[in-house]
Amino acid sequence: MSHTISAMPHLAAETNAMLERIATRLDSLNAETRFDVVNPSDGAIIARIPDLDAAHAEEAVVRARTAQADWAALTARERCSILRRWHDLILSAERELGEILTLEQGKPLAEARREVSFNAAYIEWFAEEAKRAYGDVIPTSAASRRQIVIRQPVGIVGAITPWNFPSGMITRKAAPALAAGCVIILKPSDETPLSALALEVLAEEAGFPAGVFQVVTAKDPAPIASVLTGHADIRKLSFTGSTRVGKLLMQQSAATMKRLSLELGGNAPFIVFEDADIDAAVAGAMVAKFRNAGQTCICANRILLHTAIRDEFLAKFAAAADAMNVSDGFDPACDMGPMINLAAKRKVTQLVEGALSGGARRITARVPEEAGNFHPPTILTDVTSEMDIASTEIFGPVAPVFTFDTDAQAIALANDTPYGLAAYFWTRDYSRAWRMAENLEAGMIGLNDVAISGDSTPFGGVKESGMGREGSRYGLDDYLEIKYVAMGGI
Ligand code: NAD
Repeated sequence: MSHTISAMPHLAAETNAMLERIATRLDSLNAETRFDVVNPSDGAIIARIPDLDAAHAEEAVVRARTAQADWAALTARERCSILRRWHDLILSAERELGEILTLEQGKPLAEARREVSFNAAYIEWFAEEAKRAYGDVIPTSAASRRQIVIRQPVGIVGAITPWNFPSGMITRKAAPALAAGCVIILKPSDETPLSALALEVLAEEAGFPAGVFQVVTAKDPAPIASVLTGHADIRKLSFTGSTRVGKLLMQQSAATMKRLSLELGGNAPFIVFEDADIDAAVAGAMVAKFRNAGQTCICANRILLHTAIRDEFLAKFAAAADAMNVSDGFDPACDMGPMINLAAKRKVTQLVEGALSGGARRITARVPEEAGNFHPPTILTDVTSEMDIASTEIFGPVAPVFTFDTDAQAIALANDTPYGLAAYFWTRDYSRAWRMAENLEAGMIGLNDVAISGDSTPFGGVKESGMGREGSRYGLDDYLEIKYVAMGGI
């Protein structure tokens, strides 16, 4: 294989073939500098990726400008057929894409494969939805005039994505953008660029014209981001990542008044009332807290328990957490893989140490080892709102537990955060269910459920968790402009 990526014997032959295709593509870029992509499980270097700069991003904009008009001029049905081919190719390469994802991100292989197929569904959804991007005829306000509204693609889209869902975060943006008639330039996370590059290889095979879906890789995101936010020809920025960087990009986008979709951080409350089905709530908490080693934006960040069920819930929750198998993502028995890097693990261990020194108690058995990126599932009780862990997006497998006695206390605790992405609560009282759903400040609510994400439902936050929605019939709107046409002299 090329010097950029070496064949790896533990991967399927098809996966090595896919990596070979990526390597060939990267070699053709003749990049002067490269950066390492590292397996978070063992620290091994798995690829050397072109470290592209602002000039490369500018060239991508030139190609995008050439592609934009022709792509927008296709009928929705024509765009749909290419998107469907891309969708089908992704599904047929699910194993290869899953293995590449586990290799660079660390999550269990089964979870990685699910991420690939689950998020490919967005492509199918928006390919269909684009055929229904209806306009309007507005009843006239003057006898000689007719009034219509048409919906048109926003134009060239810049996208920046994180490492926690290296495949899913891309298809969720690319699918509505491409379906609506926008072309897209994507900068993936430097931690996980291979999944993005694999999607680009399959996009080319699917028949997207040159310049319609472009991936620009870089170690330092700032120069590329300055083009994506500052270039007047780019009409929209779609970003998923931290609230801190989202705010920065929003400021940078102001000068060119870009349309923005910002999918940012969260601090989700997970509330269990005294009438809840405790076993179901514990099972939900295990997924909402520990999936992807706690590194999802909708992860339960704070566990809020009614005092009447606290002890029963915690006994079952701690037993389930201690039973989790933490290992390499390729281990068939793996329940939870490593964290993405040492800095992420250190941040979490510091939050835990800070809480323990302030009086919190660890009720799970394992403590993290000094070396490596693995962190065991951890539950902390006696946590107070003053501790850093209560207000920080933990982004790791640690569950701080709080208690409450009344619904009003639960709502006040839950909403005591600048974030507003997801909130979960468990009750069998339908009156309380309505009141909680209406009063929790979050873009997505899970009532007796944690599976709150999907192609047909709107994903996004309120408050400092961002703006815009991905998925659902609302998702296409983020990539369409509304144009009013007044037709006079009739
Ligand atoms: P991050 O903000 O550090 O990075 C996200 C992306 O932004 C990466 O591509 C990175 O290279 C780029 N970036 C970083 N600094 C930048 C800068 N100064 N200028 C321009 N680009 C920059 O986030 P992360 O650590 O990769 O991901 C974790 C964060 O993403 C968490 O806060 C999580 O909640 C959030 N997230 C949100 C959603 C959602 O849908 N709301 C989904 C997944 C992750």
